[in-house]
Amino acid sequence: MPDSTIHDLIIIGGGPGGYTAGIYARRAALKTVLIEKGLPGGQLNNTDEVENWPGTEKISGAELALNFARHAAVYGLEVMNREVVAIAPGPDQHTVTLDNGETLAAHAVILATGGSPKKLGIPGEDRYYGRGVSYCAVCDGFFFRDKTVVVAGGGDSALEEALYLAKLARQVYIAHRRDAFRAGMILQQRVRQEKKISVLWNTALTEIQADAQGVNGVSTQNTLDGTAGFLATDGVFVFIGFAPNNSLVPTGTRLNANGYVLADDRCETSTPGLFAVGDLKEKYTRQIVTAAADGCTAALAAAHYVASKKAGLP
Ligand code: NAP
Repeated sequence: MPDSTIHDLIIIGGGPGGYTAGIYARRAALKTVLIEKGLPGGQLNNTDEVENWPGTEKISGAELALNFARHAAVYGLEVMNREVVAIAPGPDQHTVTLDNGETLAAHAVILATGGSPKKLGIPGEDRYYGRGVSYCAVCDGFFFRDKTVVVAGGGDSALEEALYLAKLARQVYIAHRRDAFRAGMILQQRVRQEKKISVLWNTALTEIQADAQGVNGVSTQNTLDGTAGFLATDGVFVFIGFAPNNSLVPTGTRLNANGYVLADDRCETSTPGLFAVGDLKEKYTRQIVTAAADGCTAALAAAHYVASKKAGLP
């Protein structure tokens, strides 16, 4: 049996960008496979409520993810539940290697691998991960019912997750290193109105401490005057941004200084026939709707690229 199958397009990653690319690619009649190592939806599965997907006032992240997968299935998108370990680009086709050693080839590849939560990098963070330290309120919030938690960060994620945690916990502190949030105004307003949330401005977490039962406190430092402090808490939720999942990006493909993939307005990278979408790509804003928009653009541009290759054009 041959170990190589030629597709028109391989999509790596099953978040909003990947699934939208799949829908557009199938509607353009491309022989397409989407490869995803986890659940369909990617980070959507860690999102409680989505309130800015146009046309739907409110939907859970997990439900929206399932809707994407169902929608793609209508157009016969082939989905493979495996991990990709390498991509070898070529002039006419790219080769993708899976974790079981199998290889797949395609004229075009769309990378939709998203990003992963950034870490604070402080003592105790790795050690107490899963014992009070978390990067997902939807996954772990349940364990902190009627307890005290500290959320680190000042962006949309930190505020959104703090609001979610306030539904379960007794007290939520948001520790932010500056005196102003980066998050959108609606979220800031909701945080101000939520009595269970207190904001610790100009506060950096410097160490996470624990006893045999798990996390019991955090050491803090005032970022203005350096004063050290301590806050008793049962949990620490870290939402300080994302780092791009760029480990599969082939050598020579251009990245920016922070590791995000540089792509043109068709989402094509500096490697011909390799496209990047969603949180992996350098861009102004990272939203579900902008990931989906990238997926559309990349699939249509890939269709054009594949047609050129099949016509024998350079
Ligand atoms: P973000 O917007 O990059 O915000 C990260 C926050 O963490 C910032 O407040 C930053 O502080 C702080 N921070 C970064 N590094 C830190 C460190 N080492 N120590 C302490 N604090 C640190 O990240 P995000 O909130 O995860 O959001 C990522 C993207 O997804 C954004 O584009 C966001 O708009 C989007 N998003 C949107 C929604 C929504 O629309 N509902 C929800 C979630 C995420 P500074 O402000 O001082 O830099």
